[in-house]
Amino acid sequence: MAKLHLITYGCQMNEYDSERVAGLLRERRWELTSDETEADLILVNTCAIREKAEDKVFSKLGELRLLKTQRPDLVIGVMGCMAQLHQSAIQRRAPAVDLVFGSPAIARVGELVDRVLRERQPVLETGEGPLVKITARPPAAGRLKAFVTVMEGCEKYCTFCVVPQTRGRERSHPPEVIVDEVQRLAAQGCREVTLLGQTVNAYGRDLTPPTDLGELFARVNDVEGLARIRFTTSNPYNLTPRLIRALRDVPKVCEYFHLPLQSGSNRVLERMNRGYTRERYLELVAEIRDAVPAMAFSTDLIVGFPGETEADFAQTLAMIEAVGYDNVFVFRYSRRPGTPAATMADQVAEDVKASRNTRLLEAATRVGAERSGRLTGRTMEVLVDGTSKKNAGELSGRTRCNRVVNFDGQGSASVGDLAQVHIDQVLPHSLRGTLASRPEEAACLSK
Ligand code: SF4
Repeated sequence: MAKLHLITYGCQMNEYDSERVAGLLRERRWELTSDETEADLILVNTCAIREKAEDKVFSKLGELRLLKTQRPDLVIGVMGCMAQLHQSAIQRRAPAVDLVFGSPAIARVGELVDRVLRERQPVLETGEGPLVKITARPPAAGRLKAFVTVMEGCEKYCTFCVVPQTRGRERSHPPEVIVDEVQRLAAQGCREVTLLGQTVNAYGRDLTPPTDLGELFARVNDVEGLARIRFTTSNPYNLTPRLIRALRDVPKVCEYFHLPLQSGSNRVLERMNRGYTRERYLELVAEIRDAVPAMAFSTDLIVGFPGETEADFAQTLAMIEAVGYDNVFVFRYSRRPGTPAATMADQVAEDVKASRNTRLLEAATRVGAERSGRLTGRTMEVLVDGTSKKNAGELSGRTRCNRVVNFDGQGSASVGDLAQVHIDQVLPHSLRGTLASRPEEAACLSK
């Protein structure tokens, strides 16, 4: 079998796309290798969300060019968001690249690679293609968790974001196709799925008849053997009372909600074209906590968006306390060519972004630690996924609210079990606990 090496940058969507590509190529006798020096084909799955991510890709392509001078038969391909956005720049700056293709062409990756091998000249495939559900994946015996794409694209046009240009318009996969994929995963031992979409809570409105994410939760919930459902990423604009009811009523949906805020200032939110205000966001958080009191929230925040003043920033800082996030991902604003924000006149200096970044992270760490502190003494459901990184004699897993828990349960619980664990100690990045009951006895205590 010929050897394939995959290098993935960026988000979960990219990780998932890489898996699908590996699965599709495997059907054509390409075997995955983790060693790029023995590969016959190297595919770089790229991210265009920030300038830094793009620089990394070009520097990697420079390294691969050297590899190709030693092995002229090596085929190098670039896929993902940068491929879609900068196809000509890639060809110009990285002439060793043989194949460039965007996400819509993933389903045809085998055919594209064959074309490169046959014609021995660069192949470029970007532009929109039909929506195809690809369920091929590399074999992963005992895979406990899996991503499942439920929709592709986004039509929100936030002024800082390239996704609508790279991933195209919103297109949902039919629920029966998704349920079928989850059933197959569960039959192979998968216990947890994360339903993926750039705006996953807009799922289904483009289908005939239209449906929604709450309805999909209910259908996925019925899959036997599956224990947990997660979903990402949501946009507050598309949050409906129906979805909030589903968060409460569908038992396998976990109490962890990643709800990007981006900024706490209404002035900045408007310039970002986010479609909600800080008041509306807080209202939604209150409604969700009212329905599901144990809900943990995480968010994405951008610092240094054009025109962000100290007063705007203070409002973002205040939201960390007001919401009480478990986890916060902070990004310094990065100009993306082709987006409206890139040409806004009042760009913020890098040192100001750096200082705001640090201050937000400090606040987020403090609030996150307070939230963790509340878990001491509680008994929580943990999906056991392996052994502790620091102590192979201990088991490790995650709570429904996505916290890592290490506990001594060897011999009493195994990977894949839902164990009830008493939380004894809260550490900065994990929890420590004691097995409260054997998994068989614990099953009825879930949720
Ligand atoms: S909703 Fe998300 S993916 Fe869509 S344009 Fe805005 S930031 Fe980008």
